[in-house]
Amino acid sequence: MNEISNHMPTSELQRLDAAHHLHPFTAHGPLSEKGVRVITGAEGTWLRDSEGRRILDGMAGLWCVNIGYGRAELAEAAYRQMKELPYYNTFFQTTHVPAIALATRIAELAPGDLNHVFFASSGSEANDTNLRLVRHYWARKGQPERQVIIARKNAYHGSSMGSASLGGMAAMHAQGGLPIPGIHHIDQPDWWGEGGEMTPEEFGRARARQLEEAIREIGPDKVGAFIAEPVQGAGGVIIPPESYWPEIMRIVQEYGILLIADEVICGFGRTGEWFGAQSYGITPDIMTIAKGLSSGYQPIGGSIVSDEIAATIAGDEFFHGYTYSGHPVACAVALENLRLLDEEGIVTRVRESTAPYLAEKWATLADHPLVGEAATRGLLGTMALTPDKARRAKFAADPGTVGLICREHCFAVDLVMRHVGDRMVISPPLVITEAEIDELVTRARRALDATLESVESQGLMRAA
Ligand SMILES: *Cc1c(COP(=O)(O)O)cnc(C)c1O
Repeated sequence: MNEISNHMPTSELQRLDAAHHLHPFTAHGPLSEKGVRVITGAEGTWLRDSEGRRILDGMAGLWCVNIGYGRAELAEAAYRQMKELPYYNTFFQTTHVPAIALATRIAELAPGDLNHVFFASSGSEANDTNLRLVRHYWARKGQPERQVIIARKNAYHGSSMGSASLGGMAAMHAQGGLPIPGIHHIDQPDWWGEGGEMTPEEFGRARARQLEEAIREIGPDKVGAFIAEPVQGAGGVIIPPESYWPEIMRIVQEYGILLIADEVICGFGRTGEWFGAQSYGITPDIMTIAKGLSSGYQPIGGSIVSDEIAATIAGDEFFHGYTYSGHPVACAVALENLRLLDEEGIVTRVRESTAPYLAEKWATLADHPLVGEAATRGLLGTMALTPDKARRAKFAADPGTVGLICREHCFAVDLVMRHVGDRMVISPPLVITEAEIDELVTRARRALDATLESVESQGLMRAA
């Protein structure tokens, strides 16, 4: 096999894929029966597949293509850098211009005294860095017993041993003996799903206070950090009640523990600010970044840390790093991506026009018989499917059964909208236009209508 071109019949590409390619987060038996969709190109907010269909990408790839597809400037930045210096490491008293320039630009954009960047090639690696960095920091401060990191159930922080342990995905923990020791999970601020009789504000405070209870239970001198996404993404776009983050801030300050904001999804314009922390008034000590940093054009991530942390660990060697930390091509592409996001006013446009527009249009879906909650934050959207909205009821069928049916109907109308259990979520490219938002919402409604029909005909419209 010398060459696999786009022009091979789809069925042959599917056969080879099934024969040789193991996909992330996939059950391969059912996948090879259904056949994968082969994506061959993309432009702006639209994907193209091997059958020539145009698909509206409501997910920006995997929450990452903030700038949209097909930007030649990013390709040219990569080409220029590969010719100039395709690789050099930053380990042994060396550096290079792309890493310097990108770290400097990130420090300018990041709030407060978050002025120092440790590079990785993904969000998972960056969170592994954070785990080791927090423990190393406290050891340097003479408090090595501060080992425990508190995180949240249903959080997503990556798929490596450390980052999956920080994450709160029960199904991931069940495979491979996770979490690793020293990580404690509290409940998430999902009012629609778990709020019971409380108001959202009461519930937000109650869920934040679980952090305080956990600190007291574990011992305030044993807790090193709390990690959370400003808006939980892969967990289903869980938008916290407004009372949640102020109470979390009070607690981390009172107990003097570090706060890690995992900005892998919320960062780089997704919420209408450069970082989710800014849109919630959070002041973290560390921020995890990846995805939108390069709009997915190159694999790159990192940890942005405060002056105080950087100064504390400056004295001795931190035995940690990746061959591709600060990879010059990835840095050059990320830098060009940040330039375009800024100079074209894309983040501002999200805040001032497209996010409010999406909020208004997305909310109209709440009148659909299947939809319990339809909420947005910036250009993140979530919809809870339910058999009984008055009771915020869950389906009697296994969680995710109805969500998957809905996702397949989205596929059928050439819309990428993801399901997380029985929630439907979107996170479109930040360059999405108002006309495309109209199209997205129209297709989502068509998919919901088809879902309702399927669910009723299969007798699934029953509450648990
Ligand atoms: C995707 C994601 C990660 C992991 O990033 P990878 O690049 O896939 O390793 C970490 N945190 C959050 C919030 C994410 O959404």
